[in-house]
Amino acid sequence: MAGQTDPVNVPDQAAVARRIPGAGALGLVAPASAVAVPAVRLADPAWTAEVLALRSRVLRTTDRRVLATVWWYSVSSVLLMPPLAGVVAGIPLSARLADLSVSLLPGLQPIAALAAGPGSGDLPGDLRASIGAVTAAVAEAGSMGERSLWAIATDSLADRLLLLGQATGDVERVTALAAPLAAAVGPSLPVPRYLDVAGRRFVRRASCCLVDRVPHGSTCISCPRRHPDERRVLLEDAAGRFG
Ligand code: SF4
Repeated sequence: MAGQTDPVNVPDQAAVARRIPGAGALGLVAPASAVAVPAVRLADPAWTAEVLALRSRVLRTTDRRVLATVWWYSVSSVLLMPPLAGVVAGIPLSARLADLSVSLLPGLQPIAALAAGPGSGDLPGDLRASIGAVTAAVAEAGSMGERSLWAIATDSLADRLLLLGQATGDVERVTALAAPLAAAVGPSLPVPRYLDVAGRRFVRRASCCLVDRVPHGSTCISCPRRHPDERRVLLEDAAGRFG
């Protein structure tokens, strides 16, 4: 059948997970308790608006911009992980929405994502299309612009590569993938940046997640609005705790 993928050539995300220590905690293995949703739904503004309305009860805010931003902050992290892990593992996995599913815990909390197809050979192009489609839907559902959502995508990409680098013990090599990949995606995606503090690498954030606008939400250590000196002190403390 046209469009059907030859099962022999479908790479197995499980094979990627086997090459990444701690893959379950990185969202590469879906817990049995989670509900899988086709990722194409993330690009549907009406579906996204429903999700935001349901999450508003849990997050206890009706501010659509906050709900939309926090949703994309959460879901972009899990959505980007399979194709990025595929690059790190040397087994390319698809970044196309049609090939991805997102696993949600109760409260519609994204916890994992699965790629059912191989990489197309154009990861930047697929990321551009997928991020663009979802940010457009989230922006419409949240009655907001798309630019800040692309900045969140940058931080998710940088953060996922940092976690993958830490998991595989090769932070330098894996985080070095971030800037060229983002540049290949295009100018909508700001260049990811990192900051080394007390011997540990952190993401130098480009975005605000609005988490502190949620009742009882905490402030972010790496908040881009902090004075650099204050942020450095907090990151030094964090680096000490991580060891
Ligand atoms: S602490 Fe900073 S990054 Fe976090 S939500 Fe507040 S302003 Fe945004």
